[in-house]
Amino acid sequence: MHAHKILALVGRTNVGKSTLFNALTRKRRRAIVADEEGVTRDFLQEPLKSVKGWVAVDTPGWDEREPFFMAGRERYMTFLAQADCVCVVFDGKIGLTENDYGLLEKLRSCNIPFIVCVNKMDRSGQCPHPDVQRASTPYTHFLLSGLHDIGLGVFCAFLKQHNIDYQEESATSGAHVVFVGRPNVGKSTLFNALIGENLTLVSDTPG
Ligand code: GDP
Ligand code: MG
Repeated sequence: MHAHKILALVGRTNVGKSTLFNALTRKRRRAIVADEEGVTRDFLQEPLKSVKGWVAVDTPGWDEREPFFMAGRERYMTFLAQADCVCVVFDGKIGLTENDYGLLEKLRSCNIPFIVCVNKMDRSGQCPHPDVQRASTPYTHFLLSGLHDIGLGVFCAFLKQHNIDYQEESATSGAHVVFVGRPNVGKSTLFNALIGENLTLVSDTPG
């Protein structure tokens, strides 16, 4: 288990992964933002500023046409399989490319769960390109703009929620909840319902 939870930002080049990474980690120019393709070559890692316990990882653009990328693709998938949250970033202003579809296909075939951030939604209420809309709808998705700091609060709130799930999963460090109340109010029924098992005896007879 990692000491921190890992948020992996993935997507083809130019969708705004590095911009989003900088916005989430509040590092103005930690990751290089560029209009040319293929500028992000390594995996950059920084703590998320507003979600404790998480680090964001900016990744090289998914480019199936590039031999250098393809040579390292299986290692890349191993990294994604170990991330706590894989976030596919789309450019919401233009349609999807073969690389966007290729990435989705690969994640599905490797059974790696993911969420989607539709980036470049610079005005509130703006609709994504129909292809992006169609591809995002089946998944938990967020409309945002990394450049203009729109929608990042909702996205971070989602990650915080994810944190709570994580704490509940690790039994040894979990918080304790105690059910108290007079006999027959339904403490045991509630307990069983929450843990999903009939561990405690439920009876009409008080005590
Ligand atoms: P990456 O290749 O996915 O890391 O993309 P970059 O972060 O380098 O950004 C590629 C281009 O998209 C740059 O020109 C950014 O300024 C631009 N960009 C990134 N995010 C946004 C956004 O939210 N809105 C707009 N309009 N442009 C953006
Ligand atoms: Mg980049």
